[in-house]
Amino acid sequence: MKYYSTNHNSPDVTLAEAVVKGLAPDRGLYMPEHIDRLPKEFFDDIADMSFHDISCRVAQTFFGEDIPADDLRRIVCDTLSFPTPVVEVEPDIYSLELFHGPTLAFKDVGARFMARMLQYFISRGNDRRKVNVLVATSGDTGSAVANGFLDIEGINVHVLYPKGKVSPVQECQFTTLGRNITAIEVDGVFDDCQRLVKSAFLDKELNDRLLLTSANSINVARFLPQAFYYFNAYAQLKKAGKGENVVICVPSGNFGNITAGLIAHRMGLPVRRFIAANNANDVFFNYLQNGVYEPKPSVATIANAMDVGDPSNFARILDLYGHDHGMIKSLISGATYSDGLISATIADCYGRTGYLLDPHGAVGYRALKQLLLPGEVGVFLETAHPAKFKDVVEPIIGTSVDIPDRLSAFMHGTKQSVPMSKDFSAFRSYLSGIS
Ligand SMILES: *Cc1c(COP(=O)(O)O)cnc(C)c1O
Repeated sequence: MKYYSTNHNSPDVTLAEAVVKGLAPDRGLYMPEHIDRLPKEFFDDIADMSFHDISCRVAQTFFGEDIPADDLRRIVCDTLSFPTPVVEVEPDIYSLELFHGPTLAFKDVGARFMARMLQYFISRGNDRRKVNVLVATSGDTGSAVANGFLDIEGINVHVLYPKGKVSPVQECQFTTLGRNITAIEVDGVFDDCQRLVKSAFLDKELNDRLLLTSANSINVARFLPQAFYYFNAYAQLKKAGKGENVVICVPSGNFGNITAGLIAHRMGLPVRRFIAANNANDVFFNYLQNGVYEPKPSVATIANAMDVGDPSNFARILDLYGHDHGMIKSLISGATYSDGLISATIADCYGRTGYLLDPHGAVGYRALKQLLLPGEVGVFLETAHPAKFKDVVEPIIGTSVDIPDRLSAFMHGTKQSVPMSKDFSAFRSYLSGIS
């Protein structure tokens, strides 16, 4: 299968090229050249299929021409080493829990899949050099990528994070791993980290010598596998007799997660409609209202992984629906909430149902409560475990949040990082010393 750029101004590429490159040379995002519908029999049987079998079938439609079935199955099953259960919160409102992976957030799925697919391609290529993955993080991406790539043969990961600007829990998740993961503590802010990474990709001399790549969320190998759990969620609802009139609500930042859901819908997933739930960063919400897309600087909120003022996957949504605002509006509704409403939602849901939401899931839950119509069944994506945001959540509910063992294990490790100034010359000389 070929992949084209949403800007239609650079050549189509193979899957291997799209995965190694990430972004197209014309700055567009890669899209699969065809999205095939799955047959009726698949949906007839889906309630009795395992998560692995469902996901392999979905993976086959995208990657089946490029990766032999056995290898693809191994990549899928290795990636999905944890469940994504659908849990009833109250009548007709369900939580799709995506926090059962190693770093307790949905990004584990995409990061683990990309690591394995990249390893597959480099092990078959002629280039015997190590691949060096550079990733700038404000918190969650770094932990998912570092853990996704941990112990992957032939790949070294360098995580750049801003000193003192990442929560202690998040910091532990990429500074205690060691092995093929190096944490780099930059004396600056997130934008400095991102600038250092970008400068490295543009440095000809470095790129002649080193095989540098990014693990950015726009990468097709991080983005497409997120479709797996939408199918699995539908299977679980169908099994519970709740497979009709399903509405899926996605707490959104860069809109990669919801776009994977829209692709699942294009493949025939019987979902009635979607809701894109936002915090105070309301660029997409405004686009739905008036058809005008106006990016703006992001504002900081308590659901900080969704603080995005110019969502990169918007280009993919436009591409999927031929830039037809009416069509997009008829399938996706929007919602936007202040920090005050997010906090009130966490308190209200916990008080009434005992279910503890994280600030991101709370945005999704609230949008469902507001926009679900009679006769519909709502699922929101619970994108992270509340313990990851205990500093926010504990004062709201007035009790302490239990920390899952796999999270506290990180917190007991020894932190190790390389101190780095925000000047590119320092980062450049660091990279000159690696192979
Ligand atoms: C990254 C992230 C999001 C936003 O997902 P997008 O795919 O960028 O829309 C939501 N919640 C959490 C916890 C995240 O880490």
